[in-house]
Amino acid sequence: MSYTEEIYERVVNQNPGEPEFHQAVKEVLESLKVVIDANEEEYRKLGILERLVEPERIISFRVPWVDDQGQVQVNKAYRVQFNSAIGPYKGGLRFHPSVNQSILKFLGFEQIFKNSLTGLPIGGGKGGSNFDPKGKSDREVMAFCQSFMTELSKYIGADTDVPAGDIGVGAREIGYLFGQYKKVQSVYEGVLTGKGLTYGGSLVRKQATGYGVVYILDEVAKAHNDSIQGKTLIVTGSGNVAIYAAEKATQLGGKVVAMTDSSGYVYDPNGINLDVMKDIKEVKRARIKEYAERVPGSTFTAGKGVWNISCDIYLPCATQNEIDLDAAKKIVEGGCKYLIEGANMPTTIEATNYVIENGVVFMPGKAANAGGVATSALEMTQNSMRISWSAEEVDEKLHGIMQDIFKKVDEASKRYGMEGNYVAGANIAGFEKVVDAMKAQGVV
Ligand code: NDP
Repeated sequence: MSYTEEIYERVVNQNPGEPEFHQAVKEVLESLKVVIDANEEEYRKLGILERLVEPERIISFRVPWVDDQGQVQVNKAYRVQFNSAIGPYKGGLRFHPSVNQSILKFLGFEQIFKNSLTGLPIGGGKGGSNFDPKGKSDREVMAFCQSFMTELSKYIGADTDVPAGDIGVGAREIGYLFGQYKKVQSVYEGVLTGKGLTYGGSLVRKQATGYGVVYILDEVAKAHNDSIQGKTLIVTGSGNVAIYAAEKATQLGGKVVAMTDSSGYVYDPNGINLDVMKDIKEVKRARIKEYAERVPGSTFTAGKGVWNISCDIYLPCATQNEIDLDAAKKIVEGGCKYLIEGANMPTTIEATNYVIENGVVFMPGKAANAGGVATSALEMTQNSMRISWSAEEVDEKLHGIMQDIFKKVDEASKRYGMEGNYVAGANIAGFEKVVDAMKAQGVV
């Protein structure tokens, strides 16, 4: 058995009931096999893979809070501090009823390689809770955030671990979390990113993940002598990543014809009107169905099935494993040319293999959605220097970082004779830097 196979088996045996974590490890180890095999003896002796797949620390805690009826509620919460070889732990907080240790370990593991790809000094981490902000009053969300941060604040800091947003954690939640950190720690520092502009946030952070997805799509298209201009797109999700991916794609001449939320999808052959979508999702926090009620010519369909619509470019920007093999078959059948992951691991391993085998150009989330964390790192820089860059400056840096990520991914895939395999390229390029730092720092 090869070293990578042994480690995968070890992960499955030692982490029972964690399928998402197993899936993320499998995908990474499969594409690192060629690199590991070439240095197997050295890596085995140093226990590189054993250390890489084991989080440095997981903090698990309860979050008690009082709802509007005066009832005490208790949620589970975690922070996975996965790998600090190249910098302080960095990665978002997710508030969603599906959150468990497996999901946060998969996200934290992916984050190690993503953060490495940005070229910035940030390690990998992730956290969150099974709390569902949907349908809660602002007071309830604040009560939860305050209780959550009272505990988490003991383990994070501007130079140790800097969380950000993710599913269910947007500007409102980050504000409450930051306020509580400041109160209990008596320190005003850049301990969270995605902050509001009046208290240390960075311009363009809100847009960064979605814009970054489209900047890398643009690089991919150029590498295939193509462009976004005139293409039809489907963007899944209608949250932070989806809305700004749709916005940038539209600015670059693409037409987004469908978007989703967990209740279903809207189809608008004239191109999604993003002002309406932002009002529904960012202001009213309402369901996507309202779009079809407001925009003539558009339709709402409940449930999954957005893949039945054909498009040139698919940008899954909602959640993990939304594209399974059946969906992948529909996507290929519809003539899709590019599938660029805005969400983390939205495509199952079987679906990824199927689309790639059928000629779809595929860019994995750890490269494509790295613009968010990269801009978070730019927010950290601005906080520690106590300065604010203009929107143009941040956008230009983000654009440059995404171009650089594409180059690294493309170059690594070519170096190992797998040209165009961006899954392998992203994993290899991310891994090389982290492993170099781990080796230099000794057995810690
Ligand atoms: P948001 O909470 O802003 O939006 C999430 C969107 O996905 C919503 O439209 C939501 O629908 C939908 N969604 C969530 N869960 C499901 C589900 N189980 N089934 C169907 N639809 C679902 O999150 P973000 O936009 O911030 O994050 C989206 C993805 O991008 C995640 O995978 C996240 O990890 C990843 N990401 C986010 C970054 C960021 O900067 N925010 C950075 C890098 C990656 P509904 O409202 O109905 O639940």
